[in-house]
Amino acid sequence: MKTLDDYNFENKKALIRVDFNVPLNDNFEVVDINRIEAAKPTIIKVLEDGGSAVLMSHLGRPKGERNPDLSLKHICATVSDVIGVAVKFVEDCVGDQAEKAVAELQNGEVLLLENLRYHNEEEKGDAAFAEKLSKLGDIYVNDAFGTAHRAHASTTIVANYFAGAKCFGYLLAKEILAIEKVMRTGEKPVLAILGGAKVSSKITIIENILDKVDDLIIGGGMTYTFIKAQGGEVGDSICEDDKMELAMEILKQAKEKGVNIHIPVDVIAADDFSNTANTKIVDVDKIPAGWQGLDAGPKTLENFKNVILGAKTILWNGPIGVFEMGNFANGTIAIGNSIVEATSNGAFSLVGGGDSVAAVKQFGFEEKVSYVSTGGGAMLESLEGKTLPGIAAILA
Ligand code: AMP
Repeated sequence: MKTLDDYNFENKKALIRVDFNVPLNDNFEVVDINRIEAAKPTIIKVLEDGGSAVLMSHLGRPKGERNPDLSLKHICATVSDVIGVAVKFVEDCVGDQAEKAVAELQNGEVLLLENLRYHNEEEKGDAAFAEKLSKLGDIYVNDAFGTAHRAHASTTIVANYFAGAKCFGYLLAKEILAIEKVMRTGEKPVLAILGGAKVSSKITIIENILDKVDDLIIGGGMTYTFIKAQGGEVGDSICEDDKMELAMEILKQAKEKGVNIHIPVDVIAADDFSNTANTKIVDVDKIPAGWQGLDAGPKTLENFKNVILGAKTILWNGPIGVFEMGNFANGTIAIGNSIVEATSNGAFSLVGGGDSVAAVKQFGFEEKVSYVSTGGGAMLESLEGKTLPGIAAILA
């Protein structure tokens, strides 16, 4: 796997695909600098080697229009502040103007190109557009994990024009290594904790992961399809009747593969899908009609804690309850606390994919787990066992 450390960028122009798709407020100020900070080590390495950095990214969904609200010019000052170097800006990402700006770029300087998605060809993965992009650097560096599952011009196709001169940035390399640790090289026992709303959206991940893990915790809304499939009463809980057969098949496969499956034994049931609903603790397979399970119960959390503390490698994807409502956040917080404890005891922990990342940030666990992934869809596709096109293009 070629990373930045395999190259010396002295007198070289690095064309770096970053993910600067950051949230802006009504005054077009950046409200969350995480993604810019995440790209900083890569940019600094290129500059410290004595090279220059040409940064390209998308922002929002301009769909081929030059929408001024989505200009990357708005973030230029913030990027300068974060990396500590004045950043130049050019009002297009291809063509004469961009090529001229790159030609004038000196070692130690940084140039930010205008929004890639002002051109429809970007998302189409257009080869001619990718070739134009390729004129803007000597070495191509992909550091955008969040878009690595898309075969867009700047994330994938452009790499075809940099044979022998392309590599992963530090951020993307870290993401790849974290996933490798869970899927292949991690110390045993390996545990995956899968929560979230529906079995249907996690099924490919579950099937792929059964070959990699020793223990699997299934929580959140998925629980009830598994419980009902085994003859339990789930009341009004979220349940996919058409996935019950699949749930039984997963349990059978797990048994054959020697994977221990852990499912809630008790839940916090509510008489409405609301934070002000009445609640009671009930056995997971005896939820009365009119009630629905919205969080894991105390016995469940005790069981899960024991499993988590016994694990050496932990993957967490998906909340354990409806954490967006304060009264049903306890399970997700407890799982987070147990993962933090396991991590401080030496386990490797990776949190990835959408809502669990939001939960980890909201409840302050971000700094206390080993790695929090920056990519939602890209993470989920990796866990499904797919090779992401952006990664494959560097390896080719
Ligand atoms: P996902 O995007 O599949 O990871 O699902 C995340 C969503 O699952 C969150 O919005 C949670 O509120 C929801 N969720 C977790 N547990 C439950 C539950 N017991 N009933 C309904 N929704 C749930």
